[in-house]
Amino acid sequence: MNFADSEIVSAILTKEGYSVSKNIENADYILINTCAIRDNAEQRIRKRLRELRALQRQRGWVKIGILGCMAERLQKQLMEEEENVAFVVGPDAYRNLPAMLTRIQQGERLAETLLSESETYADIEPVRYDTNGITAYISIMRGCQNYCAYCVVPYTRGRERSRDPQTIVNEAKGLVEKGYREVTLLGQNVNSYHWRSESGEVGFPELMAMVAEVSPLLRVRFATSHPKDLSDELLQVMARYDNICKCIHLPVQSGSARMLKLMNRHYTPEWYLGRIEAIHRILPTCSITTDVIAGFCSETEEDHQATLDMFRQVRYDYAYMFKFSMRPNTYAEKHLKDDVPDETKTRRLEEIIALQGQIALENNQKEIGKTYEVLVEGVSHRSDKQLFGRNSQNKVIVFDRENACPGQYVTVTVTRCTAATLIGKIV
Ligand code: SAM
Ligand code: SF4
Repeated sequence: MNFADSEIVSAILTKEGYSVSKNIENADYILINTCAIRDNAEQRIRKRLRELRALQRQRGWVKIGILGCMAERLQKQLMEEEENVAFVVGPDAYRNLPAMLTRIQQGERLAETLLSESETYADIEPVRYDTNGITAYISIMRGCQNYCAYCVVPYTRGRERSRDPQTIVNEAKGLVEKGYREVTLLGQNVNSYHWRSESGEVGFPELMAMVAEVSPLLRVRFATSHPKDLSDELLQVMARYDNICKCIHLPVQSGSARMLKLMNRHYTPEWYLGRIEAIHRILPTCSITTDVIAGFCSETEEDHQATLDMFRQVRYDYAYMFKFSMRPNTYAEKHLKDDVPDETKTRRLEEIIALQGQIALENNQKEIGKTYEVLVEGVSHRSDKQLFGRNSQNKVIVFDRENACPGQYVTVTVTRCTAATLIGKIV
């Protein structure tokens, strides 16, 4: 999401005559787009700001701005605490950046953090940078109002709002014309995408179909689905289109009914497993990935075991695994206690990581001998004689180059694997 937002910021500033520098040493303005989801994300930014002091001393004139969720969360306070920060801009205020930079040039320090109920940057064509020219993100909605008890996003990104579907389709068409072959539609909870206009209503399944119809050569992915809203209708649309990738990211957060209730997730483990069963039934080749939090408030060994059991039952292909980090202003901070000792959180997280590593390896071993259509994304980091790409299930496959090029679809048979990567051969 931040990556996509940075591309919007680039578009806004490029239009005003600024350009993106590949080298930080040459930049007059350094814009740091930040995350506030866990404390360590914010600490990394603080560290980066300390490191940049030397560059500022050396260069004399260079202005640093903090963008995104940390800017929204801390607002002016961030400039008071970090004296080398000249400006702070929240996620809904990026259109103000050109006017702000003019004033900053004259020596002012500014913070703009007003959240909007309507801003979607729908009319802005992102400037793609640091891109492989093959895969791109398209933001389809902003904000979130699910208020999961642990999560800062509703406070830093504001209320949920959907983007005009026609602007999304046009962006996808533009990308295909430029040679892109895959788009990922982004939102905090894409299943609640909803657009109303005089000509009717568009929900997420219809939007997926509209984007899939842009071109059979364009793969379509999406992230993220909240399990409470994952409908059979969406799964059926996914089944209908070959170019909608068969991969669903379905964050479980915990396997314990008590924890899920405390987290305000609005589903039970049984209901979640029912959704997994629906995915297998309607999309038999679909891969499933997840997010999980270890050590949320009052989590017991029994709750933790329930999470491990969930992992054993679903057998995820990939998981983003986190240690709970208490965030200011959330329901958890106001009403619950961060009472699981840090060493217990770490140990539980390590147990989840070890189990998931084993499951991912076993899942990948079952792929040996299977043949997939792979979209080639680039040259392998290990050897320039090899290429890498992903299959519809979002698994990375590395294979010998032969005559293939990035951007092409090739057919690859899997011959070997590690827990993270499949290794194959073009057939
Ligand atoms: N909207 C998505 C959803 O509901 O699944 C996820 C958004 S969040 C940016 C990504 C992940 O960060 C969450 O799924 C959760 O696992 C994790 N996360 C959020 N708040 C957290 C916290 N306070 N401590 C640890 N992990 C957290
Ligand atoms: Fe955070 Fe929950 Fe919204 Fe995801 S759905 S962004 S976890 S509040």
